[in-house]
Amino acid sequence: MAITDKIYVKNHRQLSSQLETSIPKGAFKGATLDILFQGEGLEKLDDATRDRVLDFASDFLDCGCENNPYCGCPERKFIRYLLDLRAQGLGPDAIVDVMSDDYMLYAYSGDILSFLDSAVRTLEAAEGLAEVEGDRESLEEIRRTKRDLAK
Ligand SMILES: [Zn+2]
Repeated sequence: MAITDKIYVKNHRQLSSQLETSIPKGAFKGATLDILFQGEGLEKLDDATRDRVLDFASDFLDCGCENNPYCGCPERKFIRYLLDLRAQGLGPDAIVDVMSDDYMLYAYSGDILSFLDSAVRTLEAAEGLAEVEGDRESLEEIRRTKRDLAK
């Protein structure tokens, strides 16, 4: 399961009741994206919640793909966001705190930890491949990213 399947809407019950409709807990579930980010009723949300929802939409759902938000861009951008936080030196708990402040989302820090571990393993595999192929440019970039994540 991708990490984006383990990102949840905080206060999801409260949000559902404000919207007077039931939304799934998973932030990247199709129905959540539809209701929260394309649907009507955002005016029913309180200001703080609406701001966060709008921030999420403008940060992750802003691509011009025809099948937005089902094009994969939101998930890719969110993964980038997680890796950036890690590169800033944040640990799993702090990353969860930040996503909750930024977008009213939460995840279990254990899930974030295994996501980061597997990102490093993916980079290691890519590093090995670049070594075999003698691709110096990719190798340097991969090593730089790996160093960032290992902080
Ligand atoms: Zn897209």
